[in-house]
Amino acid sequence: MSSNSGDRPAEPNRAEVAPPKRRPAVFLDRDGTVNEDVGYLHKHEDFVFIKGVPEALARLKKAGLALVVTTNQSGVARGIYSSRDVIELHRLIDEDLKKMADLTMDGWYFCPHLPDEGCRCRKPSPGLIIQASLDLGLDVSSSYMVGDKSLDVLAGQAAGAKKSILVKTGYGLAEQDNVPRGTIVADDLPSAASLILADFLKAGPTAAPEKDRF
Ligand SMILES: [Zn+2]
Repeated sequence: MSSNSGDRPAEPNRAEVAPPKRRPAVFLDRDGTVNEDVGYLHKHEDFVFIKGVPEALARLKKAGLALVVTTNQSGVARGIYSSRDVIELHRLIDEDLKKMADLTMDGWYFCPHLPDEGCRCRKPSPGLIIQASLDLGLDVSSSYMVGDKSLDVLAGQAAGAKKSILVKTGYGLAEQDNVPRGTIVADDLPSAASLILADFLKAGPTAAPEKDRF
């Protein structure tokens, strides 16, 4: 049987080997941003979401943004709790999120070191964000950082995030004076999520990144 393949019209020029697109993310501080900051939180019974957070996370995830927690946990180095305790707490929080909003975080990253240890992961260093991006295939330049401390904003900026937002929950009210001039400030994570979604949906899939401006 002869082949007629030579007579077929030319196929449209499909991009058959397009590289996998790296996803945008929202990098989230934990204590004071996602949940009430009770100081060296390590027991699930002490964990309380800040109002509206599970629903806000659901809106972000539905829009196609990965959710990644980046948190300084020097309580590990101080011997208050172990890395295993931190990992178990995060697993339980994911279970809560699954029940409350039908989602889990895409990643949990924490720095277990002391502030003066000189590690590369403790915020304001960008190490946690960079590691998460490599592990999860994220595009930092189209991603967002949200936290209640200056060190969160600085970590986002150091990593090259599109925008870094300070929330007024946790230490945020007091930290307003410490963030770089022009830093975007939102009342809480649900408000920050609305700003992010407006920016993310406006930018569209092909628009060039627009830095530090809503
Ligand atoms: Zn560290």
